[in-house]
Amino acid sequence: MFKKILIANRGEIACRVIRTAREMGIQTVAVCSEADTRALHVEMADDSVLIGPAAAAESYLNVDNIMKAIADTGADAVHPGYGFLSENAAFAKALQKAGVAFIGPKPEAITVMGDKIESKKVALKAGVNTVPGDGGAVENAAEAVKAANAIGYPVMLKATAGGGGKGMRIARNDEECRDGLKRASSEAETAFGDGRVFVEKYIENPRHIEIQILADAAGNTVYLGERECSIQRRHQKVIEEAPSPFLDSDTRRAMGTQAVALAEAVGYTSAGTVEFIVDQDRNFYFLEMNTRLQVEHPVTEKITGLDLVEWMIRIADGESLSFGQDDVQLNGWAMEARVYAENPLRNFMPSTGRLTAYRPPLEDDSLRVDTGVSEGSEISIHYDPMIAKVISYAATRDQARTRMAMALDEFHIQGVEHNIGFLAALMGHPRFAEGRLSTDFIAEEYPEGFQAQDVTPDDPTLLISAAACIHRAYQERASMISGQIQGRQRIVSDDWVVLMNGEESTVSVTLRDGGYDLSLKSGRVAIETNWKMGEPLFQGEMEGQRFCIQVERSGIAYRLTHAGAEVDVLVMNPRTAELQALMPVKKAPDTSKFLLSPMPGLLVSLSVTKGQGVKAGEELAVVEAMKMENVLRAEQDGVIAAVKAESGETLAVDQVILEFE
Ligand code: ADP
Ligand code: ADP
Ligand code: MG
Repeated sequence: MFKKILIANRGEIACRVIRTAREMGIQTVAVCSEADTRALHVEMADDSVLIGPAAAAESYLNVDNIMKAIADTGADAVHPGYGFLSENAAFAKALQKAGVAFIGPKPEAITVMGDKIESKKVALKAGVNTVPGDGGAVENAAEAVKAANAIGYPVMLKATAGGGGKGMRIARNDEECRDGLKRASSEAETAFGDGRVFVEKYIENPRHIEIQILADAAGNTVYLGERECSIQRRHQKVIEEAPSPFLDSDTRRAMGTQAVALAEAVGYTSAGTVEFIVDQDRNFYFLEMNTRLQVEHPVTEKITGLDLVEWMIRIADGESLSFGQDDVQLNGWAMEARVYAENPLRNFMPSTGRLTAYRPPLEDDSLRVDTGVSEGSEISIHYDPMIAKVISYAATRDQARTRMAMALDEFHIQGVEHNIGFLAALMGHPRFAEGRLSTDFIAEEYPEGFQAQDVTPDDPTLLISAAACIHRAYQERASMISGQIQGRQRIVSDDWVVLMNGEESTVSVTLRDGGYDLSLKSGRVAIETNWKMGEPLFQGEMEGQRFCIQVERSGIAYRLTHAGAEVDVLVMNPRTAELQALMPVKKAPDTSKFLLSPMPGLLVSLSVTKGQGVKAGEELAVVEAMKMENVLRAEQDGVIAAVKAESGETLAVDQVILEFE
């Protein structure tokens, strides 16, 4: 077996490969760019090599530097992950020449399958159903229009070298066809250095369903069931699951058999994926073959119980598959959600910055989290914005879906924008729950883009109750502290008026051991929780149902995030509520230039002085309250304009500690 594997990648997939290599007792070498010297994959590997500047073209795509890293560390095999050099035949050849194993297929298979026109020809010959339209690349607009009319609109103009959803345009008439050719071609030229485009039939309202295969060098090829990846945005996958809620066993077998035939036709070895587009009548058509490990491979691992990375390594080392097609069993249901550093509210614009808080949900038998970052990591402009994958697993689709929803509620990220609220909203979407999927799902269901504020809370009682409990706790603390400091009596009311989405509810809250008892208009509820103030996740059980709500203070309100909904909830005592009703609506003051004390407490220390520059995530001050030390950190880079409090001082909630320039 290999002694040392170099992973020519970064992020979650590098970490994922390192995990299996370690379990197999194989040494690992990470490579990194200057932007990644302290990245998680570097930390996890036994050894690491700096291979160039931040720009991928000069580091992760730099074959010479990676070859040098291999020679310097004595690695005897390379796992390429996905993206970067994973489908680069020249890299696989360079390794072959150097006598180093490539953990993937032979260069010839990569070359044939990397070209969408070539691979379609091979597929056709192997008896695989292909999308109508199998002419070659079109040279100009006139040829494109001619091909489109021969196939019949709508058509898809597609880059031969395409990948990652780039270089693709739908056309419904001649004019769109001419325009689409121009755009697809120039996009492909920029992304892949190859502007060739071909035309094929556009399948309306399709599903994307793909078959995972494994093939060894002895000629054994098996398929490991399908993954449905129809939830896409701009032809890029967002949610994947296995099995597909759409396939019956006959279609599965037919697709699997064709995928195996295609793999055999190119002498494929290692793990690979044959992608199909499936129409509403379950006709399926070959799209492309990905000659590498796929982002969404974990859902297949969950339902088959196989470790695909382990098998890729064993096969590259010359081992044969220890099982045949009949031994492959599909059990249960798995779902994967891709967590991206992007802002769904701003048309999914990638977001960069430092992760000032990063707490993924806890893993167990029903939950796996593949992550590539940790608290303090910098999300830079240089790489893909995908930072983690959440994978849920259960006996049924509905259980896997609710498990995922819970995990997303628990995922706490601060410092960059992220799409967790969007993913949670998808999990709660009735059409998604019914499994009525199509690649147009997101475009159809969120035509104006995604707005967290537009998602109606699925359980208002839960949110109202939670806000009341949280507020009561804060009041209790404030009262105790002022009692301690000023020798006054502690006074906490138990009755509150909760204002959420313009509606007022009266709630009474009683604190007891292990939770709260509440009385609402709709009845009494009990909440079990050991939440403590300042914790960003308010979690526990209400009426036997587990919940997790993210809490953030937003001016005088609490911002609660749950199941994709985000609401600002105001909790007042009844007298304030009466007065509040008479108040003109006022905008919250802009406090972004100030560091405010999040709670009443003691300023233990100040870590900065006037005029000092600070970086996002850097410690600014420590505030102690009720024996808890709270480190306050910079949310963004800046310069301290003024220090407004002294260490040793007692602070009121929202008291200004620092002012930024
Ligand atoms: P998957 O089917 O595994 O999700 P994708 O097509 O989404 O595969 O690509 C996975 C990753 O690889 C993405 O980060 C994508 O940007 C990158 N990628 C895919 N194909 C290419 C390519 N030809 N050139 C560069 N990057 C690519
Ligand atoms: P990439 O290499 O970028 O992954 P694919 O050929 O796999 O490109 O297509 C990506 C996605 O684009 C598919 O999952 C599907 O949503 C859509 N797509 C591609 N070809 C067609 C087609 N002929 N008809 C309808 N949708 C298509
Ligand atoms: Mg694809």
